[in-house]
Parts: sequence; structure tokens; C-alpha cells
Amino acid sequence: MPELPEVETINRGMKKYLIGKVISKVEVDWFKSLAYDQKFINKHLINARIDSIDRRGKVLIISLSNNFNLLFHLKMTGQLVYKSDKERFGAGHPSDSLINKLPDKSTRIIFYFNDNSKLFFNDQRKFGWAKILDQESLKEFEYLNKLGPEPLDKDFSLKIFKARLDLRKNSKIKSVLLDQSIIAGLGNIYTDESLWMAKIHPLEVINKLSQSRIQKLYESMLEVLNLSISRGGSSDRNYIDIVGKKGTYIDFANVYKKAGMPCKRCSTNIIRIKVASRGTHICPKCQKLLK
Ligand SMILES: [Zn+2]
Repeated sequence: MPELPEVETINRGMKKYLIGKVISKVEVDWFKSLAYDQKFINKHLINARIDSIDRRGKVLIISLSNNFNLLFHLKMTGQLVYKSDKERFGAGHPSDSLINKLPDKSTRIIFYFNDNSKLFFNDQRKFGWAKILDQESLKEFEYLNKLGPEPLDKDFSLKIFKARLDLRKNSKIKSVLLDQSIIAGLGNIYTDESLWMAKIHPLEVINKLSQSRIQKLYESMLEVLNLSISRGGSSDRNYIDIVGKKGTYIDFANVYKKAGMPCKRCSTNIIRIKVASRGTHICPKCQKLLK
């Protein structure tokens, strides 16, 4: 599932290709992907120019010249692929649609631009969505308003991190990190990696964590997120970011999907357990529950 680093990779990449493009046509193959009638879509998207692109949590926000915004949430299997005669950039869910001929059977929406380039929204499992919101509706959009702070904001200090965790201090750390209303953008990959790096068991109750452990977790989380963004996000297989470079985060992940492999710190085999009904990867020696 695309998390903060993957959506940030799209954000940075698409800025290079989409700013200034004018939409000339929109085709929707699956209604729920962009759940408006065609008249509404045409009225608010055709002839609109892309002015800016931003990210909030796992949501990509494309601002248009007519005061409307186009939002994308990739959910489980969403991806965005830009294609012109000369260039191609795609990121999100790592499937072959990133590099294959498009449209394909996972294509849900095609945005055509007036220079003949296109943007494909592909989504195998159809949980992702796009929305068209004017400025006012964007401000009132509950999904975004409920999101916690951005961990990579320069204002996101250790003090704020502690305060956010304290809101749920009797809960278990992994489920709190996954809660988008506490901190925006973390999913299964980066919580597992951060907790391993900080040597914290995912079922540890926040109250039991000392200040120094929380500080270590804060530093680990930032390190993991920044590292992943610098590598273009994660990949199970064909993850392509800007100009076709493969994302490599998963190649050097320490625990995520590494069950049965030796821990890089202590050589104990990594195991997979269930936490908050999510497959979770830990080193049973480095990440012990506190007594
Ligand atoms: Zn270990």
C-alpha cells in the first residue's frame, strides 16, 4: 500500500511534469474512482490548468486554475502514471502497469492534456479514489481535517511527537502510529521499520516507554521516511519513479517482509506476527516487550 514516501515521490515527480498542463478530456472507466456525472467532470476539469501539486498525509492534491482541486487517494493498489511521447513517470502501487502499455485493465481514469500527454490513474482493486473539490469544500473536507500533523514538517518536533503519542498513552504503539489522526502518512512498512530501528515491540503500551525510547523512535521514524523518499519509495518489484529509476527502499528494509532472514543487528531470525490485524515484522530478540 502506498504510504507517505510513495505519495511524496509522486508529489515531487508529478510537479516536474504536470504543472502548467491544461486538461482537454477526462475518461472514467470505473464510476467509483471519480464518482461524479460526466457533465460535472467536464464543467470543472476541461480547460482547467494545473497550477500546483501538494501532499497531505497519503493524499495528493492537484490545484487547478479555476479554484477547483483534484484529489487522489491511492489506497491499496492505486498508482499514477504520466506519459507523453518522450517521457514517462509513474509511482504508487508497484505493479507492471507502471511500465507496461497503457491503458490496461487496471486503468480507471485517463486525463488528457492539450499537448497530447496523458495521466493514468490505475487501481487494480478499486479502493482508491479521486475527488473534485472547490476551495471551500477542500477546507471542509473531513478526511483531511481529521489528519494529524505531518512528520516531515520542520515544525514537527520531538515535543510534538510526544504530545501526539500522549493522546493515546494507554494504547499499543504500532496501532497508534498507524492512526492517521495521530500522525499523518505512516502505514505498515514504515511503522515496522521505525519500531525495529528503535528496538520497540509493536505491542508495547506507550505509557511504558521512557523518554529516551520515545526520542529514539522519533529519530528512527524520520530517518526511515527520509531514507525511503531519497530512494524513491518502496518496491516489491517494478517500482518506477522519476525517469524510470527503480525505487529500492524494500531492498534494504530491515524487517518488512524479511521473515526468516537474520536480523542485521543480532542475527536472530525475523518473525511475522499479527498486530491490529496487520502482518507485522519484528526481531524477537531486539524488540522485547518491557516487563
Ligand atoms: Zn535483532
